[in-house]
Amino acid sequence: MRKVKVALLGATGSIGKSTLEILRKYRDRFELIAFSVHNNLEGFQRIVEEFSPKIGVITGAAELISPPIRTLYGREALIEVASLREVDIIVVATAGNMGVYPTIFGLKSGKRVALANKETLVSFGQIVIDEYKKSRGELIPVDSEHSALFQLTEKYGDQMEELILTASGGPFRNMSREEMEKVSIDDVLKHPVWRMGKKITVDSATLMNKGLEVIEAHWLFNLSPDRIKVLIHPQSILHGLVKMKDGAYLAHMSYPDMKIPIQYALTYPERWQCDFVSLDLSSLRPLEFYGPDTNRFPLLKLAYEALSFGGIMPCVMNAANDVAVESFLKGEIRFLDIEKVVFATFDSFVKESVPGKLSLEALERFNSEARAKATETVTRIKN
Ligand code: NDP
Ligand code: MG
Repeated sequence: MRKVKVALLGATGSIGKSTLEILRKYRDRFELIAFSVHNNLEGFQRIVEEFSPKIGVITGAAELISPPIRTLYGREALIEVASLREVDIIVVATAGNMGVYPTIFGLKSGKRVALANKETLVSFGQIVIDEYKKSRGELIPVDSEHSALFQLTEKYGDQMEELILTASGGPFRNMSREEMEKVSIDDVLKHPVWRMGKKITVDSATLMNKGLEVIEAHWLFNLSPDRIKVLIHPQSILHGLVKMKDGAYLAHMSYPDMKIPIQYALTYPERWQCDFVSLDLSSLRPLEFYGPDTNRFPLLKLAYEALSFGGIMPCVMNAANDVAVESFLKGEIRFLDIEKVVFATFDSFVKESVPGKLSLEALERFNSEARAKATETVTRIKN
């Protein structure tokens, strides 16, 4: 049987490592052709030794003196890998904006893009979806909620009324704002359910992650913001629900482990055994559901505003949040300062912003401007 050829971008991250576990388990069915890291050279070497890929990409500033395989650098290299004729599936699991380039070029060259990277749809959603519609490529979401909704809407999409994304609520779901004033970096990084990269773990604590997911869902499932809802579900067993026109709900349940949706994106439309994890329904604690409190978690509300406004605003919000989270993780600002930085940046752009379509270059420019503005606010808070 011909092996499915995979390019894994962001191979040293949390999603990257889970993807490698699947490739390791199904060595007879998948072949890793190319991969990328940002600066993790040790991780680079380990992947080369174990999987013998043909091409490695380094997107950060690091350099290999005597590379063991063909090694390419930077954004252009991601585009080259995404366009390689022999690659069947590109897993885009990089952090940051760079994910948009291999996504677009993968789609252009008719490949399956298994998309984990959030920035791609949050900041550049219109461009990516326009490209997807023109292409012969496939866009399969990897994030657990979107994977759930992808599976639910595929069959009944035309009969649905609204989509519901669940959220664990993060480590502070029951905390008052006064208590949130005092939380440390370690408190924020203790996610109650998921083990993920640091950036997304901070976003889960502010609920910005769910806001970004609402924006992604808008692009993936072509629904207006008022038809995309969020439900706090601390046990994270149901990942997505669809409310149908007749009032019935369809839901997707699984053990909360990213390997399940990653594997589905790789094997779709087939389902292969995924015995890393399993869900024992009879031993489940009661499942709870309640609405999010946007007074305590205002960034979720802001994400809806950014989406409703459109144009540059989701990109601006995402850029500001990225800077704020980076600064928080460096210990420069406190937890609740993250939202201050995001709101200040958002407000300064929204006054002059006009909704509408923009080019990738224009959005990248606004992204940089928003980052600069957010950095100014961080500096003011620090001093
Ligand atoms: P990690 O921080 O764990 O890993 C990021 C990966 O991307 C690493 O391989 C890293 O390389 C590389 N990388 C870091 N910075 C850049 C950059 N500026 N440009 C290109 N590559 C970079 O992140 P996660 O795996 O948690 O998340 C990856 C993406 O998937 C994010 O967009 C996230 O929002 C999304 N996602 C993650 C989920 C999860 O469960 N973790 C769930 C759903 C979506 P190096 O090791 O060399 O630094
Ligand atoms: Mg998610």
